[in-house]
Amino acid sequence: MPSSSTRKVTLLGATGSIGRSTLDVIAQQPDAYELYAVTAHRSREALLDICLRFAPTRAVIGTESDAEWLRMQLREGGRGDVDVSHGEAGLLEVSRAAEVDTVMAAIIGAAGLLPTLAAVESGKRVLLANKEALVMSGGLFMDAVTRHGATLLPIDSEHNAIYQCLPMQHRGGLSRHGVSRLLLTASGGPFWKWPLAELEAVTPDQACAHPNWSMGRKISVDSATMMNKGLELIEACWLFDATPAQIEVVVHPQSIVHSMVGYADGSVLAQMGNPDMRTPIAYGLSWPSRIEAGVEPLDLFAISRLDFEAPDESRFPCLRLAREAMQAGGTAPATLNAANEIAVQAFLDEKLSFLDIARLVDATLAATEVRAADSLDVVLCEDARARQLAERLLHQRSF
Ligand code: NAD
Ligand code: MG
Repeated sequence: MPSSSTRKVTLLGATGSIGRSTLDVIAQQPDAYELYAVTAHRSREALLDICLRFAPTRAVIGTESDAEWLRMQLREGGRGDVDVSHGEAGLLEVSRAAEVDTVMAAIIGAAGLLPTLAAVESGKRVLLANKEALVMSGGLFMDAVTRHGATLLPIDSEHNAIYQCLPMQHRGGLSRHGVSRLLLTASGGPFWKWPLAELEAVTPDQACAHPNWSMGRKISVDSATMMNKGLELIEACWLFDATPAQIEVVVHPQSIVHSMVGYADGSVLAQMGNPDMRTPIAYGLSWPSRIEAGVEPLDLFAISRLDFEAPDESRFPCLRLAREAMQAGGTAPATLNAANEIAVQAFLDEKLSFLDIARLVDATLAATEVRAADSLDVVLCEDARARQLAERLLHQRSF
């Protein structure tokens, strides 16, 4: 039976890779966490299974007809008490609900922005996996965190590692806290050692077969192009008040060091662990204490060596495009993100080659004027405009 100290959790994106890992951690701590709401876009069978197993108070699915189907199945399964709603309105409600103290933001892509912001504006503890939300609206998002007294805990493994290695107080400029640089590690993805000529013919399944991490398809492709590291560079700038120049990307193929913080006195603090998202998820859920996450202990003798290399931006232009978008500021990162989402989907649908992902993003950015990102309306308008433009360039094959 949950006690009064039980944290009530809304899990946005419960059927995804992060969603499933979060459920696994919560299942190990039934007294500490209670699922208030779970959400999914299209995977109604998977959401039904989660509802039958965890008996949340509420569930949200993409469409009205899927909500009807879910209600019927839940009644048949003896769980007719789960309140089912649908669409964006449903997502906003479960992010804002007064009963909830913790929201895990694990929807993929720009679709996660409004529900995540709703949680921030309701002053929740927000566990941020959805990096695209921060990339799109960084300044507005971080202002909202401060204004509404939300607690923002990064779940992306690199940012979680940096958070663990930074002093507790780190906002207001890194150098004020003795920090000289952030070392963002990257596995290099499945194609790190491949000759450039062979990358043109890469298939979606090859791109999604990450050597160290098991993830959703979109982020797996982002890892293969290294756009993921580009988005993470932008994410780190916002989360830690850093400039792109203060962030160094380090390729570390074993994915054991999850990132590092360099200090003015020459110290470098690293956070290590097996590549398992349950570690950062458990950290976010239990912060500032620690809980069991079900993760295998790190066996350094079995790993035996850790390698570090410099990234090659000529082979992975997405990293450069992301850094340039952050330097350009304003709505440029939102444009980059939107064009990338279109390009990755086209690649997964086999309408675009692997190397053309970067070309399409580059062409979209080149054809777009940067605006000041001073309101959410501007950000959403630029996001929509960039999607249309990327679709048009894709259709005309002009990139
Ligand atoms: P995924 O594709 O496995 O799951 C995405 C979830 O979002 C699913 O539950 C899906 O139903 C839901 N969803 C998809 N489109 C939606 C829409 N339009 N509206 C509402 N819900 C929608 O993705 P994932 O790999 O779990 O990644 C989730 C987020 O976490 C991403 O932003 C990703 O960058 C970030 N992240 C993931 C990992 C990882 O290991 N998977 C690591 C770091 C960060
Ligand atoms: Mg990451």
